[in-house]
Amino acid sequence: MTDSDTDSKDSSAGPASSNFIRHMIAQDLAEGKHGGRVHTRFPPEPNGYLHIGHAKSICLNFTVAAENEGLCNLRFDDTNPEKESQEYVDAIKENINWLGFHWHGEVRYSSNYFSELYEFAVQLIGRSCAFVCSLSAQESREYRGSLTEPGRNSPDRERSVAENLDLFARMKAGEFEDGAYSLRAKIDMASPNINMRDPVLYRIRHIEHHQTGSEWCIYPTYDYSHCISDAIENITHSLCTLEFEDHRPLYNWILQHLDIHSLRAASDLADSDLDYVLPQQTEFAKLRLNYTMMGKRNLREMVESGVVSGWDDPRMPTLAGMRRRGFTPASIRNFCESIGVARSDSVVDMAMLEHAIRDDLDKVAPRAMCVLNPLKVTLSNIEAGHVESLSMANHPKDEAMGRRQVALTREIVIDRADFEEQPAAGFKRLRPGGEVRLRGAYVMRCDEVVKDDAGKVVELVCSVDKATLGKKPEGRKVKGVVHWVSADLGVKVSVRLYDRLFNVENPEAKDVADYRACLNPDSIVELSDCMLEAAAVGESAASSFQFEREGYFCLDVADSRAGKPVFNRTITLRDSWSD
Ligand code: ATP
Ligand code: MG
Repeated sequence: MTDSDTDSKDSSAGPASSNFIRHMIAQDLAEGKHGGRVHTRFPPEPNGYLHIGHAKSICLNFTVAAENEGLCNLRFDDTNPEKESQEYVDAIKENINWLGFHWHGEVRYSSNYFSELYEFAVQLIGRSCAFVCSLSAQESREYRGSLTEPGRNSPDRERSVAENLDLFARMKAGEFEDGAYSLRAKIDMASPNINMRDPVLYRIRHIEHHQTGSEWCIYPTYDYSHCISDAIENITHSLCTLEFEDHRPLYNWILQHLDIHSLRAASDLADSDLDYVLPQQTEFAKLRLNYTMMGKRNLREMVESGVVSGWDDPRMPTLAGMRRRGFTPASIRNFCESIGVARSDSVVDMAMLEHAIRDDLDKVAPRAMCVLNPLKVTLSNIEAGHVESLSMANHPKDEAMGRRQVALTREIVIDRADFEEQPAAGFKRLRPGGEVRLRGAYVMRCDEVVKDDAGKVVELVCSVDKATLGKKPEGRKVKGVVHWVSADLGVKVSVRLYDRLFNVENPEAKDVADYRACLNPDSIVELSDCMLEAAAVGESAASSFQFEREGYFCLDVADSRAGKPVFNRTITLRDSWSD
């Protein structure tokens, strides 16, 4: 067991499937590369909540480390203070723990290394590998060239080391305004890889940072800080997504142009005699899910404009939203394992995620009865005040989950959809004069239909056949089984039914001008008069249930009030998307 192992209590992940990263690590270990160590990291930028795509990266990083008795760090990549905040830091930590993963040691921040990063920049300047540039952002763009044209050298490129050191120190001291200067690597303005055209390493930003306050007014770029942070933490395998493939030469260039002894001295291995080897970046494909937006900028926009109720809106692809919706950590981990890790982009069908959640909840969620659209039924041959207590299994396939008592009384409710006055052929549930079985109880016959003045059915008067408890009725076949709840002893609850948030497969496609135009207006439907059996509410109740015939549900902790529970439907029992 290592720090980065998963919780054992709900770990039901299937056997690990082979992928190119597992293969590469096995090969590295066989060759003794990295001194036989595996040390990964998950590096979120705290500029939003984690989403299901991040879960893929989390599962990959923590799992490959744990499988090899390695370690996995959590490092906030916090070099962009404008958009970052402590709220996001806290939410990200909570989400990772909820998924069942534990990072090695303290939480890390790139900002922990601002002093080291500064010293390494001084080193690059001293080695004539970096210079202070005075081109404006606009000018830099013009000098950069394009995919078909080489860039041009900055007029400041040949500035002396002494002058660069002086200017860089004064940038740090706060002498210059935002944008007046930047520190750039001196690589090759004619490189076919634009990332290698003297990329910016530091920029001036007079802005407070959530971790370092007003200590710094120059901030390192992602490309500069990431590789060095990896080296400081002795990361062996720096796993990232494909868009960083073209940045890999820069990752390697920066580390190779620093003095390896000084890197080692700054690293966690400084005082040990373990081999110190530079980290190695490897890219894998991002998870994309159909009917889902994953860009943090868009997700933030939806939160801020009120399209959803917050980052934890149960329709959001965020881990906070999925948790509130009732997704289990095991289901998300199993999903991430099942989609595999590859080097080419592809879109995963939402049905795979739904399969994973059904598969897990089917095993762990106790059953209960909840009537979503109640129709009152009076059982004429049960006396008022009489309570018949029926014992029902909490799970049809798992006796260990125990049994519960369900109260049958004179007044019950069934779902309106389970009664048809003039049913079409093949309708197996209740009709005037017809019979159905009440789930776990008697066969019931509809003797009378009561309507209001407008002709709407408001009540059924029925009678039960008391000889049919746990037995087949004599002399006739009763095919339909309906769920029901005691009207006297059930609990009134609100239920929220969710559907996909977007009605197009790719709301982030280039030809979608505005995602708001493709929002599904029926993505949330709230039913406020549902009736739930009493055993499913209260402090000792389970966190998720299968409401028989209706799907899997969980209590919405955020919006439930005393005496007025709210339940979220996590998922229907069957795939309702395939038309
Ligand atoms: P944005 O959505 O704004 O592009 P980001 O996805 O880059 O942000 P980070 O916080 O930088 O967000 O991501 C942290 C880690 O998660 C990175 O290593 C990133 O590559 C990985 N990651 C992000 N999105 C996905 C995804 N859809 N699938 C797999 N990994 C992802
Ligand atoms: Mg990022």
